[in-house]
Amino acid sequence: MSDLILFWHRRDLRLNDNIGLHQAHEQTTKVVGVFYLDPQLLNNDDIAPARVKYLLGCLRSLQTSYRQARGDLLILHADPIAAIPELAQTLNANAVFWNLDIEPYAGKRDRAVESALKEKGISVQTFWDQLLHAPGDVLTKGEDPYKVYTPFWKNWQQQAKAKPVGQIKQLSSLTAEETEKAQAMGAIPLPQLEDFGLSWDNELPLPPGENEARDRLEQFCDSALFEYDQNRNYPAVDGTSLLSAALKFGAVGIREVWQTTEQAWKNSRSDETRHNIQAWRQELAWREFYQHALYFFPELADGPFRPQFQNFPWEDNLDHFQAWCDGKTGYPIVDAAMRQLNTIGWMHNRCRMIVANFLTKDLILNWQWGEKYFMQKLFDGDLAANNGGWQWSTSSGMDPKPLRIFNPASQAQKFDPEGEYIRYWLPELNSLDTEELLTGNISAMERESLDYPQPIVDHKQQQRDFKRRYQQQKQA
Ligand SMILES: Cc1cc2nc3c(=O)[nH]c(=O)nc-3n(C[C@H](O)[C@H](O)[C@H](O)COP(=O)(O)OP(=O)(O)OC[C@H]3O[C@@H](n4cnc5c(N)ncnc54)[C@H](O)[C@@H]3O)c2cc1C
Repeated sequence: MSDLILFWHRRDLRLNDNIGLHQAHEQTTKVVGVFYLDPQLLNNDDIAPARVKYLLGCLRSLQTSYRQARGDLLILHADPIAAIPELAQTLNANAVFWNLDIEPYAGKRDRAVESALKEKGISVQTFWDQLLHAPGDVLTKGEDPYKVYTPFWKNWQQQAKAKPVGQIKQLSSLTAEETEKAQAMGAIPLPQLEDFGLSWDNELPLPPGENEARDRLEQFCDSALFEYDQNRNYPAVDGTSLLSAALKFGAVGIREVWQTTEQAWKNSRSDETRHNIQAWRQELAWREFYQHALYFFPELADGPFRPQFQNFPWEDNLDHFQAWCDGKTGYPIVDAAMRQLNTIGWMHNRCRMIVANFLTKDLILNWQWGEKYFMQKLFDGDLAANNGGWQWSTSSGMDPKPLRIFNPASQAQKFDPEGEYIRYWLPELNSLDTEELLTGNISAMERESLDYPQPIVDHKQQQRDFKRRYQQQKQA
């Protein structure tokens, strides 16, 4: 057997701070990277063109990094369960390494790949890389997974965080004969987005690739981080990191992210700046909380966590759903947010909460419709975070708060007080004064003249209706 190790990239599209890759490289310089464009995932009806574009861009940049290190990253468009063992055998690989994932599909697939490899006598090594603390590392005193965020955060933040592992700089490339064999097994040049029947012409909120993600991290931790808590709720302010897609695909290592916040912590001179850094770290902990939750409670992916929502009498008004998707509900803050999502493939967190609340509590439509639509649009769409965000907004998840109902007008008044965000995404409403924009108190005639829809529902009435249904469910 040769000393070749195949390293299977999945959500870790980088050479720096990559635990599994680093471990493989400790054993040999002949580490060959491989990425499978999995038809199971790409043919799903919840795929977003913006997300695939980001993924392909990250792969392009990773391929360049491999070449610079004199190594190879193979791309295959195939089902990894059958294809990995074949490729490993053909290249006479000694072992296959990869970093683990928490998603139910990934777990099942990985077990199948592992047993097929073992049958062929090829060893497997796996690692936790995408989280600062792996599932099982942060448990209650009774050794159970947490179901509530605050105690999880208290425990999580106290635990020591690992340092980043170094960059892979030197690899050995495949021989011409091995390259030919890999091609015969399906290795292809990196496809274009159009090859999957998808298109996305708009600029992505964060350009793909490891260098871009690391630059953004530096830039954010040098400036906006110090005012994060003041600004993070205002969608018109550029106050958040925009690193969500990079974290989802692992274009940046989580240990490096943490270390950068530690550096910022050391450089900060006031309690106020430290408070802001801590607020951002809490968001990183939310990411881990939802990943742990999905790992231990995979049923979250299929439906509501709380029994009150199991057979909830949702409306089935498809016209209302379409109006919500298109940003045509007649509620300016909701429509502005949906236009942002449809245009750039990203939506500000405050607005994600507002539109999710509106879909479930004002339109009384099933949150799973919204969850899926988000996945079809978001460039950072991620099962654990998206499902967690939707279940939180619906009040169907683990959060102990019984019911959370947002008033779109008060949300707009509080978080977009000058109406800047609404004006940017709904330019047809530019002529209205701020009060009208925020409250939505726009006369029917004015709406008509501006070609802006009448409100599709009455907030107060719907709120009462939702509460009534909720109480009935609770009693039932
Ligand atoms: C209904 C709903 C759906 C959502 N869907 C997704 C999704 O598909 N993918 C996704 O990454 N986030 C999702 N979020 C969480 C959050 O809105 C985004 O992570 C955030 O807006 C991304 O912007 P940012 O990178 O500038 O975040 P920052 O404010 O800079 O936060 C830093 C990082 O922390 C993580 N994070 C922040 N907030 C949350 C949160 N509430 N839950 C989990 N992780 C968080 C993200 O990785 C983010 O990049 C959702 C939230 C809601 C309410």
